Amino acid sequence: MSSPRIKLHKGDLPAGLTFGSSVAIDTETLGLKPHRDRLCLVQLSAGNNEAHLVQFDGSDWSAPRLKALLTDPAVVKIFHYGRFDIAVMQKWLGVRTGPVWCTKIASKLARTYTDRHGLKDLCSEILGVELSKQQQSSDWAAAELSQQQMAYAASDVLHLHALKARLEMMLEREGRLAAAEKAFAYLPERAMLDLAGFEDLDIFSH
Ligand code: MN
Repeated sequence: MSSPRIKLHKGDLPAGLTFGSSVAIDTETLGLKPHRDRLCLVQLSAGNNEAHLVQFDGSDWSAPRLKALLTDPAVVKIFHYGRFDIAVMQKWLGVRTGPVWCTKIASKLARTYTDRHGLKDLCSEILGVELSKQQQSSDWAAAELSQQQMAYAASDVLHLHALKARLEMMLEREGRLAAAEKAFAYLPERAMLDLAGFEDLDIFSH
């Protein structure tokens, strides 16, 4: 694959940019606690080897064009472990994202022969693409992101469309596509429960 096109935007998507019927989304934050650690970056891709990075400086969360996309019922938002990204964007942008698709949930339902469901594992096994996780825990609040940070952030959304296509075939093959779709429909509510303090409770357990 040729090297991806990466575009950085401050505070919101540019006017006139569209992603078609499905957009891959990931976020980078200051840490893993949505109430403490602010949103720094939202990465988006149409699955066309191009990534758009929307950088937040912590002072302006208005982002009207990004929010319109996040809540557009005609555009499926593809995540890997969307539970976290959906909660973070609810907390900092104040919008409930939907409809959603999650490659991690799909992998857990389809790939029962393994317990390796990380994005790096999926890209390696299913697509033959090796991702570097080196910049994962870097300072995402930096005013100027490094080239390495931007390349890493982009790589987290560039392959989600291809993974979704392959996982959908596997779910179909195993008769679990309907179960997966119902789990995706519930996922935004699960993220809201995390924010409400239920993050460590499995409400379905005995
Ligand atoms: Mn990421």
